Amino acid sequence: MPRQEWDYTSRLDEVLAAFDSFRFGWLDMPTLIRGSEEVLTYPMADRDPLPSWDFGRVTLLGDAAHPMLPSLGQGGCQAIEDALELAASLAGTDDVPAALERYSLRRARRTTAIVRRSQQMSRLAHLRNPVAVALRDALLRGAPSSALLRWLAPVIGQGRQLRT
Ligand SMILES: Cc1cc2nc3c(=O)[nH]c(=O)nc-3n(C[C@H](O)[C@H](O)[C@H](O)COP(=O)(O)OP(=O)(O)OC[C@H]3O[C@@H](n4cnc5c(N)ncnc54)[C@H](O)[C@@H]3O)c2cc1C
Repeated sequence: MPRQEWDYTSRLDEVLAAFDSFRFGWLDMPTLIRGSEEVLTYPMADRDPLPSWDFGRVTLLGDAAHPMLPSLGQGGCQAIEDALELAASLAGTDDVPAALERYSLRRARRTTAIVRRSQQMSRLAHLRNPVAVALRDALLRGAPSSALLRWLAPVIGQGRQLRT
């Protein structure tokens, strides 16, 4: 589907082909999908991170500032963190442009790391080559949890507290 198309009606057979094997004892996806009145497809899209996103008295927040792939489930979480930081930056000052600049600079490093991690996770999750898939699965099964936690550190924010 086109990357910028946000209201894309899919053909049932296109979708069914991808979910044909999704039949579990507790869930039968093909039957569920066949029962739908309409099937819409949404693109997975992100953008390369920006170093900051303040424009004088205007700033961005959430997906407008740092759209990311949903592979780590972080887009909404980061929008909430943005809101907290924005409120903290604006509190007690009349210098709005300086506060907005502070806000975007404070947030850019963390959100950039999470955009990048989300891209990496998406690439890993969508491998198609069977050898690469087997290697990925073996590596992830065998990797010590400390290594996985290190990789996720920019996401879970080890040792970092949001200003409130
Ligand atoms: C498949 C998928 C799974 C996800 N899973 C997770 C998850 O598990 N955890 C998580 O934290 N995040 C997840 N996300 C990401 C999360 O949904 C988004 O990052 C989050 O909704 C971004 O919030 P936002 O307020 O920045 O933007 P949006 O939620 O997109 O809100 C923008 C709003 O502005 C409105 N709007 C647009 N243009 C105009 C206009 N011209 N005038 C007026 N209104 C307008 C839109 O209709 C919309 O309501 C997922 C995303 C996807 C696609």
